[in-house]
Amino acid sequence: MSSVYDLHAHSTASDGALSPAELVARAVQQGVTTFALTDHDTVYGLAEAQQAAQELGLHFLNGIELSVTWNHHCFHIVGLNIDPNCATLLNGIAKIQQIRRERTQKIAQLLEKKHISGAYQTVMDRVGEKGMVTRSHFADFLVAQHYVDTEQEAFDRYLAQGKPAFVSTTWATLEEAVAWINQAGGVAVLAHPMRYKLTMSWLRRFLTAFKASGGRGIEVVTGRYNPDEVHRSAELARYFSLAASTGSDFHSPKYGWLELGKLAALPEGLVPVWDLLSC
Ligand code: AMP
Ligand code: MN
Ligand code: MN
Ligand code: MN
Repeated sequence: MSSVYDLHAHSTASDGALSPAELVARAVQQGVTTFALTDHDTVYGLAEAQQAAQELGLHFLNGIELSVTWNHHCFHIVGLNIDPNCATLLNGIAKIQQIRRERTQKIAQLLEKKHISGAYQTVMDRVGEKGMVTRSHFADFLVAQHYVDTEQEAFDRYLAQGKPAFVSTTWATLEEAVAWINQAGGVAVLAHPMRYKLTMSWLRRFLTAFKASGGRGIEVVTGRYNPDEVHRSAELARYFSLAASTGSDFHSPKYGWLELGKLAALPEGLVPVWDLLSC
């Protein structure tokens, strides 16, 4: 049987719609054979996902998606095959989690100023004490309360940079995030390189710093990439000798156009990240 990899997805531990066990079941249904759960800045869902994967015979990798600020710009670094009990990693993410909690309050306060109340309680109720609130949760709230028609409109009118409920945030440094992943025995992978609205020259500058910090991979195929984006990401992988990863960034079944495991093949001549993971 051929292998189907999906190494980037979200559960209710952050901004996904499915619980870790539901997500794993869906991955199996969709024919995925190696799967990583990569919630935003938390390892909270991993134990449940691991257990479910074991029961269903799915090869599971512990993962995370860390929020990083580099040159005033936010990047996402996926850690694959991390030890979720690594103290250095856990201490590191505790810091980002505190930043997220404070930001959640600030976003809610900014929405209050726009006469939108009740956001804080709603998003906190949804994630519980241990989950991570992201701007997606606020977008869902704004749609549910009919302030906007779509999540995209929620970002465009309230949550995106420069909009009234945007909170400028300093996340982990690049060096910190990569070091935490490496100390946890994982492989650090730049998530969705074409989603940062950066010129290629800035992306190259970032990747130079990423390599120097110990980063080893880059997502070449993601759920939303067109062939040109795959091609440009593959060029970056070759130029910087980074291993190539593939992951849907699946969040919810409600986005019918994006499914677990339905990913284009990696272009020829790249080192797949699973070669570094021995799986
Ligand atoms: P945060 O890390 O809290 O800033 O939230 C980031 C999450 O919000 C991403 O992982 C996406 O799931 C979602 N997101 C970011 N930008 C957009 C956008 N323009 N439209 C829809 N969802 C977005
Ligand atoms: Mn997300
Ligand atoms: Mn991301
Ligand atoms: Mn993601």
